[in-house]
Amino acid sequence: MKIVMLGAPGAGKGTQAKMIADQYSIPHISTGDIFRANIKEGTELGKEAKSYMDKGQLVPDELTVKILLDRVAKEDCKNGYVLDGFPRTIPQAEVLEDALTKLNDKIDYAINVEVPDENIVRRMSGRRACLSCGATYHIVHIPPKAEGVCDRCGKDLVLRDDDKEETVQKRLNVYHEQTQPLIDFYEKKGVLKEVDGTVDMKDVFAAITRILG
Ligand code: ADP
Ligand code: AMP
Repeated sequence: MKIVMLGAPGAGKGTQAKMIADQYSIPHISTGDIFRANIKEGTELGKEAKSYMDKGQLVPDELTVKILLDRVAKEDCKNGYVLDGFPRTIPQAEVLEDALTKLNDKIDYAINVEVPDENIVRRMSGRRACLSCGATYHIVHIPPKAEGVCDRCGKDLVLRDDDKEETVQKRLNVYHEQTQPLIDFYEKKGVLKEVDGTVDMKDVFAAITRILG
């Protein structure tokens, strides 16, 4: 099963993608997590990606597409995967589609997690992320057991640089301009499914499992 998560930054794509990955035993692939891991390790890719991410802009397609195609070619992806944060532009979606078509394959579901912009800024300022294992929390809605500490790996939780309020607004603008057109793209392919992302995360997940079966 190959799944694409769509939705604004902060809609809950990562939260749901991790639950899908656990339930269906497929890898969760987040291009944002891959970039953040590279930033942490101080790689060239990380340095280049950071210059865009900190401004709330998208990392250029050439860079992002290569990373994603390398990742999905790995052995653990042969039974499917859930993509979180990719594609974010029509050209990215087209490259992915071409690569899959060559393998006689396709995306089975594009799940759009709908959350209005008003809710997003609140969510992002409360998001705390573990840069070590990729887990995310919310200080009010989904708090960790001990404040500031990751339940999964025990490392410190941080407010991401790009989750500051002024950057969030820029990311939302970028989303509406460059990423939202993907909703139409996948609707035309007949694989689009919409879920209400404003309800409790367990209820969002229940709606998703009804779709995936
Ligand atoms: P995305 O991957 O789409 O950027 P996240 O999954 O990281 O979004 O979620 C953004 C923030 O909102 C996080 O702090 C997360 O814990 C919180 N969150 C996710 N789903 C819900 C929900 N259904 N209700 C309330 N808060 C949520
Ligand atoms: P995310 O963790 O998905 O919120 O992504 C954080 C940031 O990483 C984004 O704001 C972009 O700057 C960059 N990024 C992640 N995925 C992509 C992508 N598919 N295309 C371009 N930039 C991306």
